[in-house]
Amino acid sequence: MNDLMKRTKFIFFGLLPKLPRKHSVAIVVSTLMLAWLISLESTKDHLVVDKQTDIDAVITAKTNLISDQVTDLAEQGETASFKVSSEPEYQHAEVVISVGDTLSAIFERLNVSQHTLYEILSADESILALETLKPNNVLIFKYLTKNHELQELELFVHAGHRIIYRRAGDGGIEYETVIQDGEWRTRLVSGEVKGSFYLSAQKAGLTEADAAVVTNIFKEQINFTRALRRGDKFQIIKNEQFVDGNPTGQAHIVSARFQQKTHEYTAFLFNDGRFYDKQGHSLTRAFRRLPLQKSYRVSSHFNPKRKHPVTGRIRPHNGIDFATPIGTKVISTGDGVVTRIGNHKFAGKYIDIKHSSRYKTRYLHLHKINVHKGQSIKRGQIIALSGNTGRSTGPHLHFELHINGRPVDPLKAKIPLTRSLTKSDKTAFLKLVSVRTNMLDSLLDPEINKAHETILAD
Ligand SMILES: [Zn+2]
Repeated sequence: MNDLMKRTKFIFFGLLPKLPRKHSVAIVVSTLMLAWLISLESTKDHLVVDKQTDIDAVITAKTNLISDQVTDLAEQGETASFKVSSEPEYQHAEVVISVGDTLSAIFERLNVSQHTLYEILSADESILALETLKPNNVLIFKYLTKNHELQELELFVHAGHRIIYRRAGDGGIEYETVIQDGEWRTRLVSGEVKGSFYLSAQKAGLTEADAAVVTNIFKEQINFTRALRRGDKFQIIKNEQFVDGNPTGQAHIVSARFQQKTHEYTAFLFNDGRFYDKQGHSLTRAFRRLPLQKSYRVSSHFNPKRKHPVTGRIRPHNGIDFATPIGTKVISTGDGVVTRIGNHKFAGKYIDIKHSSRYKTRYLHLHKINVHKGQSIKRGQIIALSGNTGRSTGPHLHFELHINGRPVDPLKAKIPLTRSLTKSDKTAFLKLVSVRTNMLDSLLDPEINKAHETILAD
């Protein structure tokens, strides 16, 4: 018995007109694919039949593939699942990622060549989206029925964020990032400090991540372990993303207020991605434009249409390259948190830093990484030494700046480089403060001080 297959969860459906994008645990197969999968020695002792959803047969088991690909142990995903369906010209296979899955194992199971995987990973070099698959991410394979040749691979991160790798006219693989902003709904949360803020926040309905964001916003103002007292009040405004009416799981804290007997602390997110108190004083340090302590020659500029120097194929250059000797100190351009570090075949040793809901930076081809995932970083902090790792034509630092999920030219992008707001921005900001303060105050009204959701234009 093939142990691997035995521990894989399969649900077989008949033909479906359109694949549902939900994270259901399922495989949809045509009769042909059904035959193919059964040949993979699935067990019959796990057979379940569900008439309501037109399921032909369900064969379940757990996967526990050992891998370094999916290490994010989100509770949701313990079980890999596949969906396969076909239309006359194309066949589709949908794979829900689970802990321990590797791309190469998934490709092998779906009978897609490792060469195709290599081509896709090569296209992914500029975004590294496939580098850290998370449980419940979905991969949708689309092949030509006649020869099983892969035409498209879609990485479904969530309804608001998809990446499509596509076979181009010249036979190579290109990618497209599809970002759908959908609708952001406002949620108001209030609570009282009892014990730690972390626990109180979660009791009030915030997630752990929300609590971490709030702590981070006020890190210069509030000593969370000492300054907060039992009975201190807090009110939070949070925006949650919905695409086609479904929550994507993405959320941003947009305002927060702590009320003590004699003090009040406020934070309001402005359209430049930073938090300010109600008077308009920035709560975060201004950005630096570049991640180096002195200036170095630019060896390659930001260029969405660049030809790759090694492969000769059109590959967007999503960052800027500096001709830094190996061992040059690399510094973070802003306060933030390390969201990812890794060693990629093409990108080499790399670091991703999230600065706010709006800004993210990346540092590639490093020699030595001085930080760890989850670490809080200050602007100007030395995070690495530059190097020549991965697919690289010589020692250099590749630096990227992303705004709202899209790479931009770090030399030209509009970023908040000073601490204070301009006069016209301040007018707009104070207007926003007044609207959001009313919302925060509404949470203090005992009549409506319950878990309630309001849909409001931000
Ligand atoms: Zn580069």
